[in-house]
Amino acid sequence: MLRDTDGYVSGQELCNKFGVSRTAIWKVINQLKEAGYEIEAAQNKGYHLIAAPDVMTEAELESLKNTQWAGCEIYCFDSIDSTNTKAKELAEAGHPSGTLVVADQQTLGRGRRGRSWESPAGTGIFMTLMLKPDINPNNASMLTLVAAMATARAITEVTGEAAQIKWPNDIVMNGKKVVGILTEMSAQFDYINHIVVGIGINVHNEEFPEEIAKTASSLLLECDHRIHRASLIEAFLEEFERLYAVYLETEDMSGLQKEYDSLLVNRGRQVRVLDPKEPFEGKAMGITKKGELIVDTWESRKLVSSGEVSVRGIYGYV
Ligand code: ATP
Repeated sequence: MLRDTDGYVSGQELCNKFGVSRTAIWKVINQLKEAGYEIEAAQNKGYHLIAAPDVMTEAELESLKNTQWAGCEIYCFDSIDSTNTKAKELAEAGHPSGTLVVADQQTLGRGRRGRSWESPAGTGIFMTLMLKPDINPNNASMLTLVAAMATARAITEVTGEAAQIKWPNDIVMNGKKVVGILTEMSAQFDYINHIVVGIGINVHNEEFPEEIAKTASSLLLECDHRIHRASLIEAFLEEFERLYAVYLETEDMSGLQKEYDSLLVNRGRQVRVLDPKEPFEGKAMGITKKGELIVDTWESRKLVSSGEVSVRGIYGYV
């Protein structure tokens, strides 16, 4: 209620709404203050929210939420092994599509092909959106592309700076990786049990371990100001809901191809496709309706499927 108004909410209004005493309201306001919320209490006017702390709690995320189904259930953790693992457990326990898991730290954050994802406390957003879509499992890998678009757009919305997609699953700013996405699926033949879309965003990091220092960056380093993490999560959920609806119309990227290509950092650039069977170089042209990367080599046009493949710039990371 405090968030929904620019002005004041009287103690009486809060008492009526929640059916509790003035003392109970006063106690909760004090708890919020202890959690870092700046709240002004003015006589005869009531309470006014001045600023919210950078916390990722159920209460903070719920009070910002403006979506139909994305984030319908939200579970927040200070520290967890992996948000993807938790989201899978919740899926198997019967929680609905749209359930969101958020953590401030991961102790076993994962990347593709068994690699790890640096997930230190207090600096990032580690979240997983769980989906139970009624789609063909062969079309599921495109959800990584949809999630990448939603993340890039949300970052630009909140920071005001350009964020681009390094096909298929990373977001870069000024050529450095600020986000990694790991999509995992549980399916039987032609039926999807669940999909978990895990997203790790480097937000307030000021430095990185030596192994990734050259390629990794954070929103703080690229934008020079601290953003409110819960607002970025909310922006992502809204973007994802919109883009996912377009994806579902055709179960492919037909309706999103143009917008995806406009966000694609590799577009028009020479790339090296690290295909485990046979690496090759060419010029990245954009994506197909199926989400493959179109790469023109000197002899032919190749369509690269995501999954096991990484793409690099030939002169550097992008
Ligand atoms: P690429 O190898 O081209 O970076 P990828 O998509 O194959 O991309 P991912 O599986 O998304 O890689 O991510 C795992 C890799 O990302 C790790 O091996 C490491 O190099 C790097 N990495 C790990 N943690 C972070 C982080 N917090 N920020 C940026 N990069 C990271």
